[in-house]
Amino acid sequence: MAIHVLPDEVASQIAAGEVVERPASVIKELLENALDAGARKIELWVEAAGRRRMEAADDGAGIPAEELPLAVMRHATSKLASAEELFRIRTLGFRGEALASIGSVSRLTLTSRPQDQAVGARLRVEAGKLIGQEQVGAAAGTQVVVEDLFYNVPARLKFLKTDTTERNQIDALVTRYALAYPHIRIRLFQDGNPVLQTSGNGDRREVLARLYGVEIARQLLEITLEEENIRISGFTSPIALTRSNRREITFFVNGRWVQEAALVSAVLQAYHTLLMVGRYPLTVIFIELPPELVDVNVHPAKAEVRFRHPERVYGSVQRAVRRGLLAYSPVPQVGGWSWQDARMARPPDPAWEMPRKLEQARLLGQNQAPLEAVPVAALQSDQPGRLLPLLRLVGQIGLAYLVAEGPDGLYLIDQHAAHERVLFERWMRQRVEAIPAQVLLEPVTFQLPPESARLLNEQLSFLSRLGFEIEPFGPSAFRVRAIPALLAGSDPAAAVRVVVEDFEEDEAPLQNELEARLIARICKRAAVKAGQSLSDEEQRALLRDLEACQSPRTCPHGRPTMIHLSVDLLERQFGRRGSR
Ligand code: ADP
Ligand code: MG
Repeated sequence: MAIHVLPDEVASQIAAGEVVERPASVIKELLENALDAGARKIELWVEAAGRRRMEAADDGAGIPAEELPLAVMRHATSKLASAEELFRIRTLGFRGEALASIGSVSRLTLTSRPQDQAVGARLRVEAGKLIGQEQVGAAAGTQVVVEDLFYNVPARLKFLKTDTTERNQIDALVTRYALAYPHIRIRLFQDGNPVLQTSGNGDRREVLARLYGVEIARQLLEITLEEENIRISGFTSPIALTRSNRREITFFVNGRWVQEAALVSAVLQAYHTLLMVGRYPLTVIFIELPPELVDVNVHPAKAEVRFRHPERVYGSVQRAVRRGLLAYSPVPQVGGWSWQDARMARPPDPAWEMPRKLEQARLLGQNQAPLEAVPVAALQSDQPGRLLPLLRLVGQIGLAYLVAEGPDGLYLIDQHAAHERVLFERWMRQRVEAIPAQVLLEPVTFQLPPESARLLNEQLSFLSRLGFEIEPFGPSAFRVRAIPALLAGSDPAAAVRVVVEDFEEDEAPLQNELEARLIARICKRAAVKAGQSLSDEEQRALLRDLEACQSPRTCPHGRPTMIHLSVDLLERQFGRRGSR
């Protein structure tokens, strides 16, 4: 075929494909337009998961009648005048192609009336063709109706998922925007049923409560940080409140919802070792920085951004989350109080509070280091033993728990979890230099299924840094020559299998996360188990080691290592002090 210029219709459908992928992308563009227009109130009506009809009505600035045809033209915008402005964009839109794109793959009706006009105007577009414009009576603001999405691009229609999925996408999108814009009244209806209604009173917690329920909203920890020219605010979950995927980690940059793996991993770094493997926090973070430091013109859908100083942004995010988490200490209390209650009800014991403050100051100070360095830095102890008060061992019970006494009551310590924590921190300290390996007297060979073998092959050099010396030994077979000293005495092949399993779990493990996870797993294997009797000496050693830990209160998987029964609580339980 000879080279030829594509007909307009085809060209606009190609372009539309980048902006309008599914009903939720239409809703996103309409919502962003309403926000850009300064709306205080936005209503969204969706029918048949957006296939049949979507409507967005706002009370914003409106579009003058003579500009209506421009609004639906490609590269026509009121938000950008020159190329320089592209690098300091303050509006959500700027490309001037959303309405044109939507109009080219649906039947679009645009009705608008600016505040200062007596009558409004209505314009219709079908499959990219202007059908006509008329005067109409209309409320001040703009109403966009999109019908029969993709009716002229059946191929696209086939790519839509089930109604439930498409509906969920819309719900997720609108609820996130509702969080980001608590001052705007946003209402969403699906097939006439209200899905979300916010009051627009500016209270983010209230929106959170609508989203996740009051109980969860109450538990979420507030995040704030201001440094240099970046401002971070938002919410993140305490370590006991997690999700099984990363979907509930949301970022807004200058009011724009963005999806960025690097930001997500900054958050995960902040939770380093505090969460159980495979669990993720629930986080909403709003980042604000001067527009010239963010490039939003990366992709037509505007869901990606580029930061001028990405490391700084990631570092700030991580510090902000870390700080939010540190303001709150996860020692569970017994007696039907929630941890929050306990924190509020009990005046802080100075013996606890001072070291904790020091620790916070220290962690926050050290976290100025680049992203990568934080987990190690956080574990390098310069004040060992200050994080737990000195404990007096009482003894072992049930072959599983140590009982100890501290300045503020009784501690029940899970011997397995505690030992895991001790081993983990020891390992992390050694990791800075080299992890001691134990060379096996007899190398051990073992076989893996081809899939796992491939995964293992890819990670051999990484594993050698952890003290595993493994070499390929024929197709899908390996020979282990050395294992980490920590695992001395255990079955080498079984140890490697544990590690391979971990590779298999994640589609795309981030090296950092993977390492911490692997180490946590290995420590779990090596730690004393419940049911194991410990000598007095061993019990005492475990207690001392735990006192020396930086995060003595959780195991590397994020479970508590101890339960604290405060003097206060005991007195209350025995009726020695005013009961609650
Ligand atoms: P962009 O938002 O990138 O400018 P769009 O195609 O989304 O491009 O919109 C084109 C223009 O139409 C906008 O620049 C704006 O002037 C006008 N417009 C669209 N939606 C609205 C609205 N809800 N209220 C007021 N003006 C609007
Ligand atoms: Mg727009």
